[in-house]
Amino acid sequence: MSYFDIDLELTEEDVALQEAAHRFAKEVIRPVAKKLDAMSAEEYVAPGSPFWDFMKQAYQLGYHTVLLPEWVGGMGLSPKQQCIVLEELGWGSFGLAVQLAVASFAALGAVYTNNDTLIEEFTKPFCECKDGSIRSCWGITEPDHGTDVIPTPEVWFSSPDMKTNLRSRRDGDDYILNGQKSSWVSGGTVATHAWLHFGIDPSQGFAGSGCAIIPLDLRGISKGKPLEKLGQRDLNQGEIFFDDVRISSKYVVVDPDFYSPIVDMFLTMANLLMSNAATGLARAAFDEAFAYSKERVVGLKPMKDHFYTKIRMFELFRRVEVCRAITRRATELNFSVVPGFLEYSIVGKTTTTEMALQNAHDCIQLFGGNGITKEYLPEKLYRDARMTLIEDGNNEMLAADGGHKIYETYPRQRSDIF
Ligand SMILES: Cc1cc2nc3c(=O)[nH]c(=O)nc-3n(C[C@H](O)[C@H](O)[C@H](O)COP(=O)(O)OP(=O)(O)OC[C@H]3O[C@@H](n4cnc5c(N)ncnc54)[C@H](O)[C@@H]3O)c2cc1C
Repeated sequence: MSYFDIDLELTEEDVALQEAAHRFAKEVIRPVAKKLDAMSAEEYVAPGSPFWDFMKQAYQLGYHTVLLPEWVGGMGLSPKQQCIVLEELGWGSFGLAVQLAVASFAALGAVYTNNDTLIEEFTKPFCECKDGSIRSCWGITEPDHGTDVIPTPEVWFSSPDMKTNLRSRRDGDDYILNGQKSSWVSGGTVATHAWLHFGIDPSQGFAGSGCAIIPLDLRGISKGKPLEKLGQRDLNQGEIFFDDVRISSKYVVVDPDFYSPIVDMFLTMANLLMSNAATGLARAAFDEAFAYSKERVVGLKPMKDHFYTKIRMFELFRRVEVCRAITRRATELNFSVVPGFLEYSIVGKTTTTEMALQNAHDCIQLFGGNGITKEYLPEKLYRDARMTLIEDGNNEMLAADGGHKIYETYPRQRSDIF
C-alpha cells in the first residue's frame, strides 16, 4: 500500500478490498487513463479504443457494482468499504472512477424504487454483465439548466417560467419525450441506459419534473458528439437528444409529487461519490509529491531533506486526512438515515474537491517545471481536479443548497438518526 490508513477497526476483508482495488488502480486504471487522456474525444469512443477493454476488465472484477447491494448481485459493500474502494479508484483516475460508478445509476435507481420488475429488467442483468456492454448515465442537467436543476425553496425552481429542455406529454399509458439533456452527461454518448429527468407538469417548472429508467436504444433517441474538455478527459461526456420518444409509464418511476426528495437522495449519494473519488485524487497528489521530493536534488541534497519541504508535504498530508475523515463520516451517516442528510454530503463534496485541487496545485508547484509537462502525472491531476468544483453541482451553489437545508432542518435531533 502506498498510504497508511489510521482506521484501527479495518477488518482483514476491508484491507484485502483496499489492496485489490489499489492494485487495479495502479496496474489497470492509471495506464489506461493516461492513454485516454491523450486521445481525442472521438478516438476515445471509437472501436478498438482502450476504453472498451478497460470496462471489460473492470466489470469482470465487479467494480461496476460498487454501489449495489448483494441481494441484487452487487458487491454488497459496507459504507466504509465503499469509501475504501471508491477512494482507490479515484486515486487511479477520477474520470474513470466516475465512469464506472455512473454506469450503475439506472441499476441503482431501480433498487431505490424497490420495484421487482425494474430490478429484474435493469439491475440484475447489469450486475451479471461481465463484458461492460451495459452502461448507464445520469441525465439530469440540460443545455439551459445546470444549477437550476437542484431542488430549492427559491421561487425559480417551481416557477412555470422555468421551462425544462426535455419535456413530455401523455399519450394513453405512455409518455412522449421531446428535447435534450446537456453535453455534460457523464458517459452520455457511450451509455446504453439512463436514469433520466424530464418535465411532466410545466405549470410547476422544475418541480413538475419526473424520472424514468430507460434503455437508450428506443426509436427517436440520438447522441451528440463526445465533448472535448480540459480535464477528466478519460470520462466520456455528451448530449442525448429525444425526438418523439415513446416510453411506457412503467419506466416512469418518479412523478412531480416525489421529484424533489428523490433528486436530493441522488445528490446525497452522488456528492459522496465525488467526495470519495476526490479523496483519492488528493492522495494521488500527495503520493506524487512525496516520491518526487525524495528523488529530486536541490541545494545539494534531496528536496525532502530541506525543512521547507517538510512543511509543504505536511499540508498535503493534512488535507488527505481531512478528506478521508469527513467523507467516511458523511458516508456512514447517510447509509444510516432515510432520507439522507444532504448537507453532510455537500460538506464532503465541497471540502474534498477544493482540497484535491489545492493538493494537485501544490504538487505541481513542488515539481517545478516538470510539474507542467505531460511526462509527469501532476498536470493531469490538476486538470481533473479543476472539473470537480463544477461536477455534480458548482460548489458555491451546493453550498447555497446546504445552507437552505440547515435552515430547514436545524436543530436536528438524535432521534432523526437512531
Ligand atoms: C466533469 C463533469 C461531469 C458532469 N456529469 C454530469 C452528469 O453525469 N449528468 C448531468 O446531467 N450533468 C453532469 N454535469 C453537469 C454539472 O452538473 C453542471 O455543469 C453543473 O451543475 C453546473 O451547471 P452549469 O454548467 O449549467 O452552470 P450554471 O448553472 O450555468 O452556472 C454558471 C455559474 O452561475 C452561477 N449560478 C448558477 N445559478 C446561480 C444563482 N441562482 N445565483 C447566483 N449564481 C448562480 C454558478 O455558481 C456558476 O458559477 C457534469 C459536469 C462536469 C463538469
